[in-house]
Amino acid sequence: MSSNKAPKNCVFYRNQNWIYPRIEKGEGIYLIGENGKKYIDGCSGSAVANIGHGNKEIAEFAKGHIERIAFTHLSRWTVDSIEKCAEKIVSWCPKGLNHVYFVSGGSEATETAMKMARQYYVERDGNKSSKWKIISKWNSYHGATLGSLSMTGTIGRRKIYDPLLTNFPKISQFYHYRNPWGARTLEETSILAAKELETEIQRHGSDNIAAFISEPVVGSAAPGSHPEKIYFDMVREICDKYDILFIMDEVMAGSGRTGKKMASNHFDAKPDIIVVAKGLSSGYTPIGAAVCSSEVFETIMVRGSGNFIHGHTYAGNPLSCGIANKVMEIIERDKFIENCAVQGNYLMKKLEDLYNYPIVGDIRGKGLMIGVEFVKDQETKEPFDVFSNVRGKITNNCLEEGLVPYPGGGSVDGVRGDHILLAPPINITKEEVDLLYEKLEKAIKKTSEELQGVIA
Ligand code: PMP
Repeated sequence: MSSNKAPKNCVFYRNQNWIYPRIEKGEGIYLIGENGKKYIDGCSGSAVANIGHGNKEIAEFAKGHIERIAFTHLSRWTVDSIEKCAEKIVSWCPKGLNHVYFVSGGSEATETAMKMARQYYVERDGNKSSKWKIISKWNSYHGATLGSLSMTGTIGRRKIYDPLLTNFPKISQFYHYRNPWGARTLEETSILAAKELETEIQRHGSDNIAAFISEPVVGSAAPGSHPEKIYFDMVREICDKYDILFIMDEVMAGSGRTGKKMASNHFDAKPDIIVVAKGLSSGYTPIGAAVCSSEVFETIMVRGSGNFIHGHTYAGNPLSCGIANKVMEIIERDKFIENCAVQGNYLMKKLEDLYNYPIVGDIRGKGLMIGVEFVKDQETKEPFDVFSNVRGKITNNCLEEGLVPYPGGGSVDGVRGDHILLAPPINITKEEVDLLYEKLEKAIKKTSEELQGVIA
């Protein structure tokens, strides 16, 4: 791997210990490096390239759209592709979410939801409304801009920017495997986690809280972790009881990734706002959206000032909307969501065998959003110390086999283990799942051997 060249210095990105080859092109579930090597894109970038690489239909559509129009500003015009895309997104969301505010990515989408929640209460209750805080979770990720980072609970990402952030309340992350209550069952963890939300609301006073934000299935922090339906039932009840909006962050889990159009549908969850991005356009172009209920929309836009004080130039970029709509049409026509559910179950069953390797601590997920967590000791769940660089070793060994995982975790204070996220394109075939598994198993076997002496 050391022969790979680091990116040119003018690319402002991490360029130390570069282990990835420059990518020449992508084909279906594969990435092809300029070294000629073929890799299974086992994580779709970061759960983005949902329909795979090099899709000719998208390429042709994009060319036609570009030839037709460059840009229109959404404050004055719409284009058919914008309206079609909004209609399609609404049809993918749980009932009652009817209004789509377009942005260019996940951080902008969560930031938009945050501002929407604040303005909702100001329009409803007047300028003196004290409802502005957003409750989120420790170790969560909701984005990199200052508002979305304020909701983010991952210390490493917050630390140096702390003086610039708003100090929003945080509750425990949803992480059944290492839940802080010692709960044995997923149901018990789900109930206790929801109760913690209520306690936190009471602690701050519901008059000061505008919203609670949660992922339906956890992405980067503890990939694949998710509660049972009862959690979202309780969250809805608590939010209603205390007059708080519920924002569901489906940036990673939405757009078909978990085997449903939106992951909220697994739990019959009823958020007031859903945010989506990543897989929405399958990575062919940047796009995101915050989708809100009629109550939120009408309070601001019909009964209120009629002016949501927010907006980015590229909101509702016609090409991005056109491509996202086309991606959703292809997913529906070719039944990729159904495929995602089937292949996700199939992969999950195969992965069970990995527990034979003592470094595999936990495997969890929904559809093709699966986390594998590595531990020093299966019994005690003791994580490896960060200096063992287990996620790095796993990643290197996967790359050698021709598989790209999405590594993460491994904290210095040992509160979580090293993990990888598996999230291949949702149109992956059974044969390709077999191949992915084969490569992963070889990489885990090799890593286990390298860790002899460190494993408990
Ligand atoms: N929310 C979640 C759940 C995410 O996973 C991410 C990206 N990893 C974001 C928000 C931020 O999205 P973006 O990187 O597109 O700004």
